[in-house]
Amino acid sequence: MSTCAPSGPAGAGDVLDVLGVGFGPSNLGLAIALAEHNDAAGAGGRRLSARFLERQPRFGWHRGMLIDDATMRISYLKDLVTLRNPTSPFSFLSYLHDRGRLVDFINYGSSMPSRLEFHDYLEWAASSFASQVDYGCEVVAVEPEVGADGTVEVLTVVVRSAAGEVRHRARNVVVATGLTPLLPPRVAAGERIWHSRDLLHRAPAAAGTAPERVAVVGAGQSAAEVADFLHRTFPAAEVCAIFSRYGYSPADDSPFANRIFDPGAVDDFFDATDDAKQRILGYHANTNYSVVDPELITDLYRRHYHERVAGTERLRILNLTRVGDVVETEDRVELALESVVDGSRDVVSVDLVVFATGYRSSDPLRLLPALAGTCRRDPAGRLRIGRDYRVETDPELRAGVYVQGATEHSHGISSTLLSNVAVRAGEIVASIATPAAIATAPVDGNRADLAELRGAR
Ligand code: FAD
Repeated sequence: MSTCAPSGPAGAGDVLDVLGVGFGPSNLGLAIALAEHNDAAGAGGRRLSARFLERQPRFGWHRGMLIDDATMRISYLKDLVTLRNPTSPFSFLSYLHDRGRLVDFINYGSSMPSRLEFHDYLEWAASSFASQVDYGCEVVAVEPEVGADGTVEVLTVVVRSAAGEVRHRARNVVVATGLTPLLPPRVAAGERIWHSRDLLHRAPAAAGTAPERVAVVGAGQSAAEVADFLHRTFPAAEVCAIFSRYGYSPADDSPFANRIFDPGAVDDFFDATDDAKQRILGYHANTNYSVVDPELITDLYRRHYHERVAGTERLRILNLTRVGDVVETEDRVELALESVVDGSRDVVSVDLVVFATGYRSSDPLRLLPALAGTCRRDPAGRLRIGRDYRVETDPELRAGVYVQGATEHSHGISSTLLSNVAVRAGEIVASIATPAAIATAPVDGNRADLAELRGAR
């Protein structure tokens, strides 16, 4: 594993073919696809050099939510590689074989491993790329190196780390910075006010304080998992599950609806009109947003019911309820609650509250202010992104800026998920590996080029 070290002023260092910002599953998938591309290229072919910058001190995939018995919401076959290259040595099956658990996993009888096991798989795959990743490095900006003729062939990536400012130079930058946690307006995280992403980082300290009443706000998968976790972890505490819906709703993972995550669905979505895109997202929001695994719903309901029978109700469901002001005092949090039904108000005092209120994709433009005038936007101000995930830019910007994750508006609902990581990584490598095709493409013509690239592979 490498760490950041000041590399002197940009201009001095080597120019990489690919610089990945963030090293979560998306750019890990890209690292594998690049390695496989280089292997296939052999000694004579065009090999691509790459480096990845990750702000965490080591590889980690949503560590704060690695609840012991939480399971993946996706088949193990949608790992980092299988849909692109079923013979890859980086498949989940190869990992199981390496760990000596292949037969045991078959007997386990489910295609959905636990999140802990999938995390171990991701870490196992990431360990092969340790020499290509600088951990503890936060990218703060991507800047153009403007040539004498006004064109930009190279980008400088500026990094903040414990070692100071570091600059890297690259012909292509792939931004895959994941999700940013969302709290309701006017709510700030604090000692007793957490976002669900920090659950496991904060809960051990709270366990020693024997909380009497805790709350979780939200009705999605994370909210239900947090309610379940708090209920098990604090056996003397009342757990208030607060949400404005009537009840937890099941995630639709039935086979026809699940096709929305297929690689081919990206083509359909990309080619659709803006109006059709909105409708598709609306029709199938319940495959991913504000929905819960049906087994977990049943489990929570049974627990709630049995407690009522026994007269020991600890899991309290405050449905049709909105949270207003949230005030943290020295040893409590006061939550102002409002009924969705009649607007009546109440205040509940808790030891701590967890907001499982979701995420939004981190905005790539945050890192690209110096390129903002060059990157094209749609009428809603969002980046225009080609089918090959390359940001559409003015022609002077010849260096490539690619985005993984923050493409739901252009590539559909699987953008922020794992389903398409393997195939997308291959598409990005194909685009980068054929610069002539990209450089000569009309700015709005990336869609057609990718089809050619696919044919050429
Ligand atoms: P991330 O995993 O978020 O990785 C982005 C990385 O970039 C992070 O490591 C971050 O530290 C780093 N980074 C950010 N900014 C910078 C910067 N400026 N400089 C350097 N590094 C930076 N999806 C599924 O399909 N199935 C599931 O079962 C599933 N379970 C989930 C469970 C939870 C609790 C959560 C929160 C999400 C889940 N998801 C799931 C969706 C999730 O988005 C994907 O699993 C996956 O994390 C996407 O990978 P990524 O690499 O794009 O983003």
